[in-house]
Amino acid sequence: MTATPSLDRQRGVDRAAPTGEIWRIAGPVVVARGLDRVRLYNVVRVGRAALVGEVIRLSGDLATIQVYENTSGLRVGEPVLDTGRPLEAELGPGLLGRIFDGTQRPLEALARLGDDPFGRPLLPRGASVPSLDRERTWTFEPRVAPGDRVIAGDILGVVAETRALQHRILVPPGMHGVVTKVSSGSRKLQEPVAWIDDVPVTMLSRWPVRDPRPVAARLAASTPLITGQRSIDVLFPIARGGAATIPGGFGTGKTVLQQSLAKWSHADVVVYVGCGERGNELAEVLQEFPQLIDPRTGASLMERTILIANTSNMPVAAREASIYTGVTIAEYFRDQGYHVALMADSTSRWGEALREVSSRLEEMPAEEGYPAYLSSRLAEFYERGAAVRCAGSDRREGSVTIIGAVSPAGGDFSEPITQHSLRLAGTFWALETSLARTRHFPAIDWNRSYTLYDLTGWFDREVGADWEEHRAWARQLLQREAQLLEVVQLVGADTLAAPERVLLRTGRLLREDFLQQSAFDEQDAYCDPPKQIAMLRAIRAADTAMRAAVDRSLPAETAAAAPSVTALAQMRFWPADEAGQHARALIDLLHSELENLG
Ligand code: ADP
Ligand code: MG
Repeated sequence: MTATPSLDRQRGVDRAAPTGEIWRIAGPVVVARGLDRVRLYNVVRVGRAALVGEVIRLSGDLATIQVYENTSGLRVGEPVLDTGRPLEAELGPGLLGRIFDGTQRPLEALARLGDDPFGRPLLPRGASVPSLDRERTWTFEPRVAPGDRVIAGDILGVVAETRALQHRILVPPGMHGVVTKVSSGSRKLQEPVAWIDDVPVTMLSRWPVRDPRPVAARLAASTPLITGQRSIDVLFPIARGGAATIPGGFGTGKTVLQQSLAKWSHADVVVYVGCGERGNELAEVLQEFPQLIDPRTGASLMERTILIANTSNMPVAAREASIYTGVTIAEYFRDQGYHVALMADSTSRWGEALREVSSRLEEMPAEEGYPAYLSSRLAEFYERGAAVRCAGSDRREGSVTIIGAVSPAGGDFSEPITQHSLRLAGTFWALETSLARTRHFPAIDWNRSYTLYDLTGWFDREVGADWEEHRAWARQLLQREAQLLEVVQLVGADTLAAPERVLLRTGRLLREDFLQQSAFDEQDAYCDPPKQIAMLRAIRAADTAMRAAVDRSLPAETAAAAPSVTALAQMRFWPADEAGQHARALIDLLHSELENLG
């Protein structure tokens, strides 16, 4: 028995596409009339230029459309065509290493990404460019044979898409039955590779971007997404399938942090959505990533990366499309059994686009002019981050981890997007302007940030049994340091007892030699967890040795200035595979040197 993919049925793709006409134009919003039977969220082509738009409201004979391309020059009375389909992502081999705009049109030319001072469109308006190359051939290796019974999500075969990733071709959602024929070898995307009850299946599929893709089950998020960033992995780790929000004022390092996470996170696939930010930042990614080698695969980072660029000079409505397109592509790879990290920089620009469109719709504004549905839109997005058991009979698992930057004006975290995001995300990495100003990077405020994921079991098991103990020690010490620094501000440092002076010194060691980590330092940009714990053990040993020394009446300043203590500044340059050795040697030295000083 065969089911046609249920979506096609639901959406009625085979209806003849009716035509209406433009009745009103307001910036990115166009109202059309006469589009009989058009459905909410259908894609329409607007005007003689055939601009891509999406129906976002229906009332009586009128369809309100947000247009994803520049609407200048459109005129009332021009035709509007209902494509009969919702906004869909094209899925299949050929996604990796590519760069797309918000509606998934390929943007090949790197140079075009720079902000164009004349606001020229990056692609001709109304261009119909397929997202994936139809002519390219891929070598399909079947994993099923005629007679096999398959269900949706089962792996029909694989394609070695890049050195970094094997693309798995799945039985499409809604389909099941008996494999009646299989092909193998060199195939184009639209050529059948398998037949299920004689219905051909190709490597190319589509999915409506606003609908989450089906899974067998959502799983608890209990494995960390290792980022190689010490302040994150140790203090505020994020789970695979979890969500993090990064609010921070201008220049606090949101983009640099997102890019570091895109480079170094232990993800199989990275989807990077540049939403409403400057094009040159994405151009940097494009120049840098192909040259960087993924330490886990030995292949270039671009081979596991997909960029969605909706830069500040592109039409605002397409920001929404870029977010949904990005998360749909992320889910597609998740369904294959991969761990995907999705970066969105910045969700504020999407929120601002919602605000602009909402005001054009003359909707009743809620907080700060944002529409009342802002929080539900953000929730729909963050909810698509999940660890799952994938559809299919082999019980494989996959995840989408969402990391969204928020750019609150003036760094004021009380604004709606920050507030909603922090309710939705399990991890909150608050970037603090004063830290950025003193060049403490990443500027993650250890007093305000938090994580709701309990991953200590994993770290204790996989990295070192003393992980949680050291983590708790570091957090507590930083808290006590903060309290003590307040006292010092009030009454000065002269009244401090020697153990308190040691505490301040250890606090500084933690901040400067552990939490600070330059994204631009080749040796330090990535720090693996075994090295993280080695560094933490060394700092803690310094603390213990300094306290023992002042107990024996050595002045705190003398202890703090011991060469073995100052040597901690070199920890970040320890080669990863020698970090344990270096730490043990330094710990011995700290103890013997400070004992001798006493
Ligand atoms: P935002 O996106 O929040 O406006 P950026 O990410 O562009 O800020 O960062 C601004 C500048 O701060 C960068 O150009 C860089 O000089 C510095 N910076 C930010 N994060 C780091 C980091 N992790 N390591 C070193 N420098 C950083
Ligand atoms: Mg930025």
